Amino acid sequence: MTALNHHSRRRSVRNIRAAVAGLAMASLAGTLAACDPEGSEGGGADGVSVLAAFYPLQFVSERVAGEEATVTSLTPPGADPHSLELAPVQVADMAEADLVIYSSGLQPAVDDAVASQPPPRLVDAWDAAGIEADLLAEDPHFWLDPTLLGPVAGAVADELAAADPDNAEAYHDRADELSAELDELDQQYTDRLAGCSGAMLITAHEAFGYLADRYDLRQEGIAGIDPEVEASPARMREVADLVEEYGVQTLFFETITAPDVTEALAAEAGVSTAVLDPLESPPTEGDYFATMEANLEALENGLVCG
Ligand SMILES: [Zn+2]
Repeated sequence: MTALNHHSRRRSVRNIRAAVAGLAMASLAGTLAACDPEGSEGGGADGVSVLAAFYPLQFVSERVAGEEATVTSLTPPGADPHSLELAPVQVADMAEADLVIYSSGLQPAVDDAVASQPPPRLVDAWDAAGIEADLLAEDPHFWLDPTLLGPVAGAVADELAAADPDNAEAYHDRADELSAELDELDQQYTDRLAGCSGAMLITAHEAFGYLADRYDLRQEGIAGIDPEVEASPARMREVADLVEEYGVQTLFFETITAPDVTEALAAEAGVSTAVLDPLESPPTEGDYFATMEANLEALENGLVCG
């Protein structure tokens, strides 16, 4: 609660500062426009720019930014965010963005970059989601629990409002709207997986711990958290035993990783496979919500529920 109080106090100080800054800006505006050789790039009048580390953070930022700010993702589409590497020019760009949003501990290259080139404003999504730091090593994929993304939207709105006070209300309204949609998505999951309490969820990459926790599923990954580390033959045998013990009907694999291991295991066990997208990369169709809905449908069809 202390943190929240501190936060709202900080916000009201910002509002006063914003009003004062607004007056100063009005008289400076002419001079500034003449001094800006590139003009305002995209976004709103003052070209607020957001650099998001990977897809779910890009999605949240875009929803909150609306037309008033431009959002760019550091992780290219189709790339695995865990192993992202940054060119020196990208590291330099991070210091130029008005706001950088990342999730500490997920991408070592981004952690290093924000430490060496601190941007003017920074949101650590992990922190904003209110998750304890020591849980990071277990599973960094918090965005698969939709309720944890709402507070991230709020933090992005706070920082955008501070960077661009003229549009503060629009940023906060859009963050509230997004949070309400995320709550609706959560309710859909809760309702539709209500009979699946304790169901065994076998996935290729162990990315669904937050989703499993939220909806009371039991996740077992064929490989670990890092999609680039392959499962050992011993692990393959363990998973085959779990399939038998729990009467599992479907093994879930991901869009970003090769399905070979999962398919071989499924063929051997005589069960089917289905796609579950951890949303580490932008979906080829639709957005976060469309993909989370497709994931829910895959879970409903694939899990063995009571
Ligand atoms: Zn991952």
